[in-house]
Amino acid sequence: MATAITGYDVFEQALGIIKPWSVTGTELRKSEDGKRLEMHITVDFAAGSEFSCPQCGTDCKVYDTSEKIWRHLNFFQYRCDIHARVPRIRCERHGTRTVQVQWGREGSGFTLM
Ligand SMILES: [Zn+2]
Repeated sequence: MATAITGYDVFEQALGIIKPWSVTGTELRKSEDGKRLEMHITVDFAAGSEFSCPQCGTDCKVYDTSEKIWRHLNFFQYRCDIHARVPRIRCERHGTRTVQVQWGREGSGFTLM
């Protein structure tokens, strides 16, 4: 039996986004020169989520977040920006660390702006 595709599943699969992350919005906007459409995808994490320390893997609470944008030049034929607030965690052993995100990995095609 086929699984029903709901909401932003197709984007989450294409981007390799897994819990606690999810796509919370997509939008096609005209580029500044008005010549083409650009895709904007908003990704966010569930409230109260914990993330592993990049150094030791311990689950830690979120300390703060910062807004970041990644850009892909040819995603489904569009220039595509991913907007997300990326958490920093505070590890008892390693201090404040920025969490690594799936779509920011090397080879993903997305570049941090
Ligand atoms: Zn740690």
